[in-house]
Amino acid sequence: MSLTERSHELEQPVVLLDAAAVDSLVPAIPAADVDRLRGLVHGPVYAAGDDGLAAEVATWNVAVQHTPAIAVGATCAADVAAAVSWAVAHGLGVAVQATGHGPVRNAAGSMMITTRRMQGMVIDPERRTVRVEAGVRWRRVMEAAAEFGLAGLCGSSSDVGVVGYTLGGGLGSLGRKHGFAADHVRAVEIVTADGRQRLLSADSEPELFWAVRGGKGNFGVVTALEMDLVPLTGLHAGGIFFAGEDTAAVLHAFRRWSPTLPEEVSTSIAILRLPDAEFVPPPLRGRTAVHLRYAYSGTDADEGERLVAPMKAAGRVLLGFIGPIRTDETDSIHMDPVDPMPSWEKGQLLGELTEEGIDALVAVAGPQAQIPLIMVELRLMGGALARQPRVPNAVPGRDGAWSMLVLGPGVPELAEVVPAVGRGVLGALAPWRARGSMINFLGDVSGPEEVAAAYPPGVHERLAAVKAAVDPGRTFSFGHAF
Ligand SMILES: Cc1cc2nc3c(=O)[nH]c(=O)nc-3n(C[C@H](O)[C@H](O)[C@H](O)COP(=O)(O)OP(=O)(O)OC[C@H]3O[C@@H](n4cnc5c(N)ncnc54)[C@H](O)[C@@H]3O)c2cc1C
Repeated sequence: MSLTERSHELEQPVVLLDAAAVDSLVPAIPAADVDRLRGLVHGPVYAAGDDGLAAEVATWNVAVQHTPAIAVGATCAADVAAAVSWAVAHGLGVAVQATGHGPVRNAAGSMMITTRRMQGMVIDPERRTVRVEAGVRWRRVMEAAAEFGLAGLCGSSSDVGVVGYTLGGGLGSLGRKHGFAADHVRAVEIVTADGRQRLLSADSEPELFWAVRGGKGNFGVVTALEMDLVPLTGLHAGGIFFAGEDTAAVLHAFRRWSPTLPEEVSTSIAILRLPDAEFVPPPLRGRTAVHLRYAYSGTDADEGERLVAPMKAAGRVLLGFIGPIRTDETDSIHMDPVDPMPSWEKGQLLGELTEEGIDALVAVAGPQAQIPLIMVELRLMGGALARQPRVPNAVPGRDGAWSMLVLGPGVPELAEVVPAVGRGVLGALAPWRARGSMINFLGDVSGPEEVAAAYPPGVHERLAAVKAAVDPGRTFSFGHAF
């Protein structure tokens, strides 16, 4: 089942700046300079007005459309270094895009470096590591690692890029056992605003290494990451859909059940509003349903089934499967959409989930509520996610017991309604908020102050000091910039 086709029913995506406003932001660049850049890089270069520019910078979340002054399709780290130096010399900010799953807003007037041609990937089964270049998506890692009985710390969709996901923390189905993906990064190759290619690790530029793991794209363009894989051949996992009428009973059961689980289990639950469309299986078509996601990565499958059994009985099951799956089949747990879609999203962390909190959630987002949100999700955190790794990093969110995410269609006709309703649903749980936010689930932000507030006290100040040292001109100020 996929929510993907829903996007085809929707009309134009949200455009955050009109054409005139965008034009005014695009600096005039002499054509000869653009030609010089073409001679410096191996990949394609598109200037504003060139055929091919829009396709080069196309997003997956089509609610945001980029109108950079220039785009460089980087093929290697040297291309990235040349492009960054050229941009700085021309007074352009630099934005970076791999898959377009996480654009925040239009990187208008920037140099946008696209990394999808950078597909190098090497698995070292002895050291249990993978080195990925900046364009690699999780799917390739999971498929290749499975050959060696290994898995990466992929999130709900393997269509997402490894680098963007990991720099923002990276919360996946093995998270409670192994922590954030960023906790497993051994080395980072990055091009900073001075055009230098740097290799960061615990022993080499440790302060920047700390900052970049959790500081997202604020410090430069990451050209490659080396990270741990974990030994795993399969999971007892999947998802089941309960009837929307049972939302209250299922959510209350989830609240009581999920904190009792061992760290081998990661789980989440989502209220989904499914369209009345052909691609949705008949029992779910046009309905509100509650989607339980479950992943047990321990060795005893019987135990995995025993642990989930009470939850399976919490409501009327319409559809679904929880059972043995391969590590390259983890997309079946969340069943995220695959095709591009316009979406608006926003997240927050909760410190606890009380009975009153569930009542408040059901009141604003239960099946009786006429709201335009596609998904309201709660993910259980804790376990290894709450602990700093051996080599600490800047990933925020360790104080959260739960992650909450709301998502709605990012279409012009709902451009005011969806954010207002989404913020209202988050606001209903505000009494139980934990400090900070997860960068990957920040979604729509008002500006750098809101990004800065995602980090615990002291962490943002330390990150800001690193940024002032490596990016004094604020070349990297797109995406979730602080
Ligand atoms: C369907 C879906 C499922 C998701 N599931 C999860 C999940 O389970 N867990 C989770 O933690 N997150 C999840 N996310 C969020 C996702 O991790 C972020 O949106 C992430 O930024 C996507 O990275 P990308 O490279 O694929 O996207 P892009 O839009 O290409 O990049 C997003 C941002 O990442 C940064 N970035 C990307 N590449 C580089 C680079 N080479 N150097 C420096 N910065 C870079 C930039 O700031 C860029 O603006 C999901 C998103 C979607 C759409």
